[in-house]
Amino acid sequence: MNTTMMTGRFAPTPSGRMHIGNVYALFAAWLSVNSRHADTGSDGDAGDAGVGADAGNGRMLLRIEDVDVSRAVPDADRWIMDDLNWLGLRWQGEPVYQSQRLDIYRQAVDSLRAMMLVYPCFCSRSDLRAISAPQQDDGFVIYPGTCRRLALRRRSDGDASNLAGKRHSLRIAVPDEHSPRAEVGFVDRVFGERRFNLAREVGDVVLRRSDGLYSYHLASVVDDVLMGVDDVVRGRDLLRSTALHIWLREQLAASGFWNDAPPVRYAHLPLIDTSSGIRLAKRKHSLDMGVIRASHIAPEQVIGYCAWLLGIRPGSDGGPVAMSAQEALPLFSWRCLRGDTADRTVDGRLLDVLRAIR
Ligand code: GLU
Repeated sequence: MNTTMMTGRFAPTPSGRMHIGNVYALFAAWLSVNSRHADTGSDGDAGDAGVGADAGNGRMLLRIEDVDVSRAVPDADRWIMDDLNWLGLRWQGEPVYQSQRLDIYRQAVDSLRAMMLVYPCFCSRSDLRAISAPQQDDGFVIYPGTCRRLALRRRSDGDASNLAGKRHSLRIAVPDEHSPRAEVGFVDRVFGERRFNLAREVGDVVLRRSDGLYSYHLASVVDDVLMGVDDVVRGRDLLRSTALHIWLREQLAASGFWNDAPPVRYAHLPLIDTSSGIRLAKRKHSLDMGVIRASHIAPEQVIGYCAWLLGIRPGSDGGPVAMSAQEALPLFSWRCLRGDTADRTVDGRLLDVLRAIR
């Protein structure tokens, strides 16, 4: 039983109206924090216990991830909140906006800088395209370390010429490939034991872009710790980033930026593809919540479909069943997903599928 109070977060990027893949991920985060038996699985007593008894006492927060202001769409934060409310997915307190926390991110970068873990990178986008290793299946591009070598050389030559006046981003120097500190392992609640070599599989990621914007990695790590989040649910494309995040938390503790970062429980979700195999992109309006709601589909149909994507199969035929978020609570456990971690394909006729859910 999930007896300790967990703190989770909805962390949507306000780049448009949510699509079914976003709803599925946020719903999973909500279930993880609110279900009393997320890890043990339902024991079949849900009917006797009633919905109330299955609700945990977790705390769900809302963070609007608008740190990349160039991607933020005006009003998208309000649509997301309205859709979450419509779906019955509630959070506590006021939403936290990353765009209002730049001073905190700057202090975090300064702390890492004081530990000699940050270096300027002068590579342009086209330089990176030309020299980078091919994208991994999760879209991750590993930086080959050009400017890291340059920074080391300048340091050992005592070269004080002010290259920093040139447009540059700031990167974090992860431990060398053969250092034991480069190995970071964790147990994911869906994907099980995972281990990554930071140098080989993650690389020196950007903390602050050359246009001054802070990166997702930095903002997410800083905010999760400062908001007291200890339950993180997100797409499996962030599995390797999690190794980086765990290491970054430790470096920020070592720098004195915070005393202690409590351990986090992570769950990564299979990704959702459209039937053509292309990841649903919010910017393409691929059957977003605006379209779904205008088609007179009920929240229970959307939740029932997302529950089904999460492996909840209450119906005799194994198909999706209409249910409220509260009704899904006793049926949910991470075990539902563990057996089937393949990416999901959403039927191209999603509206018809949703409409037919009873
Ligand atoms: N803002 C990210 C997204 O919308 C969430 C990443 C995370 O949960 O850490 O995919």
